[in-house]
Amino acid sequence: MCEICHMNPCHPQCPNAPDPEPVYTCKICGEAIRVGEDYYEMDGEFYHAECFEDNAVDILMNECGAIKGVAEPDDWR
Ligand SMILES: [Zn+2]
Ligand SMILES: [Zn+2]
Repeated sequence: MCEICHMNPCHPQCPNAPDPEPVYTCKICGEAIRVGEDYYEMDGEFYHAECFEDNAVDILMNECGAIKGVAEPDDWR
């Protein structure tokens, strides 16, 4: 029996608990996306929900062709 949570198998919040099974690999941080974690999928790539949300603008620029510019006076369309 575990000395920290006194459960067998460990309580999921226990630091001794084994990591849940990896399911996907996050394209941003390269870490596993594990059972029970939120993720986003785009074009067959997987992202932790947190990584995706932190990098949403970069992903749009890199994967979706979004362009950031500074408006110039003679760019009027
Ligand atoms: Zn435990
Ligand atoms: Zn990630």
